[in-house]
Amino acid sequence: MVAKLLRACPVCSFITEEDRCPRDGGETSKDWQGYVVIVDHAKSEIAKKMGIDVNGRYALRVR
Ligand SMILES: [Zn+2]
Repeated sequence: MVAKLLRACPVCSFITEEDRCPRDGGETSKDWQGYVVIVDHAKSEIAKKMGIDVNGRYALRVR
């Protein structure tokens, strides 16, 4: 499963393969669960709730 290689930002929940979040520069965590894919943040209720303003994958829970 490719998800094992992915990391998530504890600040904005953005999922990336990088050690640092491309959005806020915070250190990403390997310890996260579940994710949502935002393809159109302007129309997404989830994106609004989570304060997401960039399309991408976002973890539901990051430790
Ligand atoms: Zn971030």
